[in-house]
Amino acid sequence: MAIKQILSDLSQPISTGGMSVELDLECGVVVFESSCADASDVLRKATSAMYQAELRQLPFLVYNASFDETHRRVYAMLRAIPTALAHGEFRLVYQPKLDVALGRFTAVEALIRWRSPKWGVVSPAEFIPAIENTATIHLLTEWVLHTALAQTAAWQAQGLYTSVAVNVSARNLEHPHFVKIVRNACRTHGVDPRHLDIECTENAVLTGERSLGVLAELRDLGVQASLDDFGVGYSNLACLQSLPVGLLKIDQSLVKPIADNYRAWTLLQSLISLGHTLGYRVLAEGVETADIYALLADAGCDAMQGYFLSKPVEAGEVLAFMRDQRTALVALPRRELGSTFAALAACKAA
Ligand code: C2E
Ligand code: MG
Ligand code: MG
Repeated sequence: MAIKQILSDLSQPISTGGMSVELDLECGVVVFESSCADASDVLRKATSAMYQAELRQLPFLVYNASFDETHRRVYAMLRAIPTALAHGEFRLVYQPKLDVALGRFTAVEALIRWRSPKWGVVSPAEFIPAIENTATIHLLTEWVLHTALAQTAAWQAQGLYTSVAVNVSARNLEHPHFVKIVRNACRTHGVDPRHLDIECTENAVLTGERSLGVLAELRDLGVQASLDDFGVGYSNLACLQSLPVGLLKIDQSLVKPIADNYRAWTLLQSLISLGHTLGYRVLAEGVETADIYALLADAGCDAMQGYFLSKPVEAGEVLAFMRDQRTALVALPRRELGSTFAALAACKAA
């Protein structure tokens, strides 16, 4: 059979530069009619079959629609996003961030929500990873920036001066005009760039060639920057020496286990102290219980975010929330740690 022959031929050792190179091959096969096939679709199907072959440790597999149901859903979503944006299917919700020393919420993070007539509520955890390697992410991020800044301006007009954080992807930072886009958005809505915070992940900052320079330019404009999901990315600690960000947001997977896992708790304390030593403020994500809140406050964590403090809230509810909670929060339990520390000590001893 032709495929077997091709694979066998390509598997023969190749001599180059005095070295012998042997290829380990997997192959995806698609049957298509050249008259009606879309070239990019054929390639996508072949890639999907190739990954399945790799997964099943087979030399080759012929494409079958069941291989890429998830892929096809995501691909369809990707194509639908520009129209969905134009049709107003997206909105932003805002999760408050607590400044521990002040005992009040001083900032919010804008988080996108999509209610699609076709797919229902789609989580950003599903569609953002799908689009962040495509040009559509520019359209989406620009929409998020403008919507969040317009909302911030509306809050300011009502006397609420809060910072707003916008999540951006690696590809946004690589855009040749990203700094200009951010500056123009701030100008358009009359929001001082100091009230804007750009959140990007470790991977986004460290993989892009331009990312560090762009973040430095944004900082010169006055925009704040935060390193999102800190601790679960590339973890290149050397880069921490001089990142142009002010805040490290420790990923929730490192925060959630601390109340009953002594090693997790020790790791988190070390991360907070490392961040402080290097001059960063530190925020813990995913604070879900009073115990975790109290442990983190005791460890000197500067800021927190999580369901215990507040779930993301609708734009129209932020003003009332911030006004009500500002004073109420000072009364949060700060040092009811006796039993938590006893439990942690017991874990350590076990
Ligand atoms: P992220 O930026 O790390 O946002 C935190 C996520 O954790 C949010 O999920 C938030 O709702 C959730 N969360 C907050 N506190 C808690 C908690 O105490 N427990 C638990 N279990 N979850 C908590 P969401 O909104 O589903 O967003 C998921 C991710 O999607 C975000 O992670 C971010 O990476 C991305 N994302 C969301 N909105 C945008 C956007 O506008 N642009 C881009 N590029 N990415 C976005
Ligand atoms: Mg974020
Ligand atoms: Mg995060």
